Amino acid sequence: MSHSYTGGDSRARRRMQQVEGSRSLIASLDPSMRGWCIRARVIHISDMQHYSNDTGPGKFFKVIFLDDSGEICCSGFNQQADRYFNVLRVDEVYQISNARLQKTNPKYATVKNKYEMRIDRTTRIDICRDDDTVPFMTFDFVKISELEKCKPDSLVDVIGVVKECHDVVTLPAKQSKKENKKRDLQIVDGSKMAVNLTLWGETAVTFNGKNCPVVAVKRARVSSYEGKSLSVGVESPLRVNPNWKKANVLRRWFDDGGKDLVFGTFEKEKNWKTFEQVKSENLGHKEKPDHYTVKGILSEIKKNSCVYKACPKCKKKLNEQENGRYHCEKCDKKYSDYKWNMILTAVVTDHSGEETITCFQKAAERILSIKADELGDLLDHDERRYHQIVTEAESKQHFFQMRVQPNTSYKENAVKTSCVSADPVNWQEYGKHLAGQLELWVC
Ligand SMILES: [Zn+2]
Repeated sequence: MSHSYTGGDSRARRRMQQVEGSRSLIASLDPSMRGWCIRARVIHISDMQHYSNDTGPGKFFKVIFLDDSGEICCSGFNQQADRYFNVLRVDEVYQISNARLQKTNPKYATVKNKYEMRIDRTTRIDICRDDDTVPFMTFDFVKISELEKCKPDSLVDVIGVVKECHDVVTLPAKQSKKENKKRDLQIVDGSKMAVNLTLWGETAVTFNGKNCPVVAVKRARVSSYEGKSLSVGVESPLRVNPNWKKANVLRRWFDDGGKDLVFGTFEKEKNWKTFEQVKSENLGHKEKPDHYTVKGILSEIKKNSCVYKACPKCKKKLNEQENGRYHCEKCDKKYSDYKWNMILTAVVTDHSGEETITCFQKAAERILSIKADELGDLLDHDERRYHQIVTEAESKQHFFQMRVQPNTSYKENAVKTSCVSADPVNWQEYGKHLAGQLELWVC
């Protein structure tokens, strides 16, 4: 066996060795260390995040690095965000030195590391091309059916085919005064279950759901909303149509008939009540709203106010002006256009009593089996048909999901009941519920 060195640039090699010698592992980093450097792979780059505080508007992004020892989250703010956001690439390896190390805030952090890095002016990040000594990201996938056992707020790795891709929705922000965008996907896998997966921000806007792509998410957050659902966070790596064996198997399964299966969904356990129970149990008098399900009949719908011309921005009712334009009091703006919005005031009756409810757009459209735009159009052009549609909806039975909460602005001890959703009566399910009730009586 012969030992030979080719290309004798010993100075360059010595320099490499020095770097190698002082190279640290991510898991060994702590803020007291000086002169460290790591070599790690980028496994995730977040969207640019915008915020506003006392010092004015700002922005930052997060990047997650991985080496043999673990992961670390790194953020770049403002100038540093501009400097690196478009430079770093997922899956490439970089050598990083002189970043500031600080404690992570366990409230927001999902990466398992006591510390995180922050890029500052002196930070160096250099690409190391073709370094295959640094590992790639690994996943520990759970089947969608296994989410049943997952607690709210736990983090899971999941892979599935996008069966439904909904439009982007803009949500008004509560505290940050900044609106947020989201997009809901329904993903499915071989466990024959479907679950909702929510994307946020730019990721939601740019997501292309055409041709049912395969998506893999690391650290999706589990919530108990609608039974079970998943959310992709700022620190959640997401891969679309990755060229992996597992993804290709899923693709074939879906295309070869998986797409035609009937998938189970995570049902929120229903809190069955009769209207008598709602009263006797004092629902709706606590600070937080109560939710319940009742099987009832729509005994009356207030017919003259089912749809209204709404502000395209805030959905408040518009005032029609003489010049044919519309004024929104809330936005204090004039519009030449409007959006039809549906809202029903109705009385629901069951064998024990009745309740007046307010029904917002989504549930109202289901109850009347017509879109708000179409009903608005009928109100303007075919009032007879409009009344016919509303009358036909009366005396129909539904499972009403209700939310009841205090309505102190009306009068003391008053409550208001909103219908969150109205579904056709599932007699099999209702039969089971009644059988359960009977058992309670017998025992
Ligand atoms: Zn408005």
